[in-house]
Amino acid sequence: MQTNFSLAQLADPHVAESEKILRKCVHCGFCTATCPTYVTLGNELDSPRGRIYLIKHMLENGRPADKEIVTHIDRCLSCLACMTTCPSGVNYMHLVDHARAHIQETYKRPLLDRLTRAMLAFVLPHPARFRAALRLARLGKPFIGLFGKVQALKPLSAMLKLAPASIPAVSPMASPGIHAGQGAKKGRVAILTGCAQSVLDPAINETTISLLTRLGVEVVVPQGEGCCGALVHHMGREQAALASARQNVDAWTRDIEQGGLDAIVITASGCGTTIKDYGFMLRLDPAYADKAARVSALAKDITEYLSGIELPEPVRKPGTVVAYHSACSMQHGQKITRQPKELLTKAGFIVREPREGHLCCGSAGTYNILQSEISAKLRDRKVKNIEATGASIVATGNIGCITQIATAAKMPVVHTIKLLDWAYGGPKPEGVAEDSLIAAE
Ligand code: SF4
Ligand code: SF4
Repeated sequence: MQTNFSLAQLADPHVAESEKILRKCVHCGFCTATCPTYVTLGNELDSPRGRIYLIKHMLENGRPADKEIVTHIDRCLSCLACMTTCPSGVNYMHLVDHARAHIQETYKRPLLDRLTRAMLAFVLPHPARFRAALRLARLGKPFIGLFGKVQALKPLSAMLKLAPASIPAVSPMASPGIHAGQGAKKGRVAILTGCAQSVLDPAINETTISLLTRLGVEVVVPQGEGCCGALVHHMGREQAALASARQNVDAWTRDIEQGGLDAIVITASGCGTTIKDYGFMLRLDPAYADKAARVSALAKDITEYLSGIELPEPVRKPGTVVAYHSACSMQHGQKITRQPKELLTKAGFIVREPREGHLCCGSAGTYNILQSEISAKLRDRKVKNIEATGASIVATGNIGCITQIATAAKMPVVHTIKLLDWAYGGPKPEGVAEDSLIAAE
């Protein structure tokens, strides 16, 4: 694609990066076929190619974002299916990240939208605030229908719908410390405790630590790590995202330098995609560029890590039919497609892949709150495809997808690690009825 940026514009490294990306696009439109918003809305401006044109014009003209571009960029899930499809290697992720930051800097959203976004950015990345908000949400549940009728209050209604009826207790395993591996030491890793996941389902990391230590891997819960920054990054709040990235880079660098780390294990693929991008996000910061690149190189999804170590024979031979839902951040963001399915199969599960597996479930960070109507359509489509597999349980590797799919699916939705842990001798995943694992015993 031909671009027309001035030399003065290209002196801005963010613009220069976006220009490089734009020049790679050959307008072929292959990406439209796999874009969930184009498939759902049928509007070229809600396709990757359409958005690329909008971003190009906004940046080339050096103008503030307007209502049209904000509408179509806000509708983008950042699912990155377009990057998997694109034959020219267009890095849509970095382009849309730049566009979102530009929108945040130059566009004044309506008051309620601003307040909603500010509240999400204030609450979600902080477990204590998020837990308090979920308690408050119980009081708001009776008003879901009422709020849902007012356009500007739809995000509030969506939030209340997503809030779980009960909140698990704080996990003692989330506290900083070292969990020694059993037997001969096979490795040493840090684990990301994360933010929303640690509140909604602390058992995911507890299970991960339990399985890894049984396998002989020492697990460090680093002092000072926090939210990966993905939630605010996707809202265009660049400085907040970079602050989170720096905080985590500092925390992990201490552990890399003190005891060494084979990997930084991540159990939420949405976080994994962002942490693997820290090297890029902090490339212009001389104090952090190298450290961030080292952290990104060490970041591994838990299934990626387990695939690289020797596993014993499973204790159980489940035979349970599992529908594996590949989160977008897993398959498109990190290109991890094989490992989770291979691990489940090796552990004795019968893995089925739903049709249209490349399409997003509509969760996408805060998307199911801010774009609840499109999100619900994508969720229902996803659940229909999952249910058509005939599986009795769904496995996936991202808390956002778990929460989203569970609001509509008839069968339990669990993190992949819980099924693996169970097959390798751990307890039955909490909240999963025996008949969902009926083929097991
Ligand atoms: S990231 Fe997803 S929703 Fe956004 S343009 Fe690409 S395919 Fe479409
Ligand atoms: S598939 Fe790639 S090159 Fe083709 S229009 Fe989409 S982004 Fe551009």
